[in-house]
Amino acid sequence: MILDLEKVSADERISGDEVVVFQDVAGQENQIHCHIELGLRKIGDTFYIHVDLSGSFSTACHKCLEPARYEVTPSFEVVVQKAGQAAGSEPGSGEEDFVRLPIGQTRLSLDQHIYENLVVNIPMRISCSDRCRGLCPACGVNLNREDCRCTAAADPRWNELRKLGEKSSE
Ligand SMILES: [Zn+2]
Ligand SMILES: [Zn+2]
Repeated sequence: MILDLEKVSADERISGDEVVVFQDVAGQENQIHCHIELGLRKIGDTFYIHVDLSGSFSTACHKCLEPARYEVTPSFEVVVQKAGQAAGSEPGSGEEDFVRLPIGQTRLSLDQHIYENLVVNIPMRISCSDRCRGLCPACGVNLNREDCRCTAAADPRWNELRKLGEKSSE
């Protein structure tokens, strides 16, 4: 998303949609479909751009390998000043992304800020649900769909233990 700061007015709200491509830890490319809401404030020559992102993408659950959907909704602030403005007027708490626009430039791309704020908020491992039981390491059965007989076949006493475990977790 590119903003032309000459053309936006103070207190404007702008929204848009973008597709952001990133690579996950497995090197797999993912597309995040992202809705962007911008709130602008201008104080003096300084722009404060509050950005709310709401993105979602599909990936494979790291436990059961079934499709999993993940939503990522970071918010952040970008503070923009033009070069040549008095030093020491640097505003804010240091939490924001700070941009100093070169003299004569009015266009600002938010793509890098959007990308970074999305990607740092994506966990390395994504599960289809908190209760995903994953695959049986012995036979590969998806334990969300069916119980396998691996532990039972290996040793009948596991059955009793498993019943006890199920009782105590009820
Ligand atoms: Zn899963
Ligand atoms: Zn099994």
